[in-house]
Amino acid sequence: MKNAASLAVGPRLRAPRRPLAQWLDWRAGAIDDPVARLGYLRGSAAFWSRKPVRRALRDARVQRMSAFFALLVLPIPMITDGAAPRRSVEASSKTDTFATVWTVENTPDHELFSNGLRVEKRHMAAPRQAVPFQRWRLDGGNREEKAGPYGIVFHTTESDAAVFEEANNRQLRRAAQGTLEFVQSQRAYHYVIDRFGRVFRTVPENEPANHAGDSVWSDGKYYFVNLNHSFLGVSFDGQTRGADGRSSITEPQVASATLLTEILRARYRIPAVNCVTHAQVSVNPRNMGVGYHTDWAAGFPFGRLGLPVNYWTPLPAITLFGFKFDDYYANLAADELQDGISAGETMLRQAATRRGVTTAVYRRTLAKQFREVADPHRYVNFTEPESRSTNR
Ligand SMILES: [Zn+2]
Repeated sequence: MKNAASLAVGPRLRAPRRPLAQWLDWRAGAIDDPVARLGYLRGSAAFWSRKPVRRALRDARVQRMSAFFALLVLPIPMITDGAAPRRSVEASSKTDTFATVWTVENTPDHELFSNGLRVEKRHMAAPRQAVPFQRWRLDGGNREEKAGPYGIVFHTTESDAAVFEEANNRQLRRAAQGTLEFVQSQRAYHYVIDRFGRVFRTVPENEPANHAGDSVWSDGKYYFVNLNHSFLGVSFDGQTRGADGRSSITEPQVASATLLTEILRARYRIPAVNCVTHAQVSVNPRNMGVGYHTDWAAGFPFGRLGLPVNYWTPLPAITLFGFKFDDYYANLAADELQDGISAGETMLRQAATRRGVTTAVYRRTLAKQFREVADPHRYVNFTEPESRSTNR
């Protein structure tokens, strides 16, 4: 495991690729209100990664396009680029569209939905007491709660995966069974999608699951700390990047994840901005580093799941609480996620300058604020196999 001293501000992180990005960055620095600033960067970051964004647009189905356009939001009206519609952060969430989908059949061992997805319940952990999910306002810091989740964190189980071919069928089935039994015993996710695309609900949706550990996210109006208590955990059985450097995620898994995401987003009115990967939200408070867990640091099929690519979102862990990143994380990160890291760093430095303090001093102030928010909400962390403590 790395210690705090080895964390550095990104020698290997490439700079934003275009002068426009730097300009947008500078304008963001002039916005003092944290809500407006985050919202601004969220919108402007779309310019930084236009190429993948356009690719995503091509791939998306027509009915998903409105969700994609939420990405082109420019909440601060002073922007004059003209290439994107100007909408507020609030309006962006209203552009989310939700499918009409209902439960067709609900039996003790499965649930069937009108979009064709069958959810297996035979590996569900015993129900416990339902706990409200929580979030904090960015302006004022007030805590709010409701019975259901605010978002989804996507994971991989990081289980060793056999090659997905018929000759390995027995081994693949045995591996799936092993994963499910482990997840059930650990209450590790709300859903697991095995490599055949079968979907298992493993923890009831109105209870926390031990999936995200120490984690931070923000949707521009609220922030979330320790996402076990605010987001659902959906895990693909397999590895983001196996020993051969390739993903072991299968086509049936992506197809099922699309249907499951559609159902969960519709049921809880989850905005696209709150559909994130574990690598985007995971932090390590012991050394104040981001990316403690790195599942889906790259390659997440946002477009296939009807979601805009949101890797580029300025990392809230950096902007709100001053977390750092290191080479290990930056090297695993997709180009768009590197943009998100870079934007977060720039915002942080500019905020420090405005306050007349060094970035290091400002980071310490933010770290103190993080501890004040996070400590009262501690719980037992489930540690995934891809944790750096076992990986490195
Ligand atoms: Zn994970």
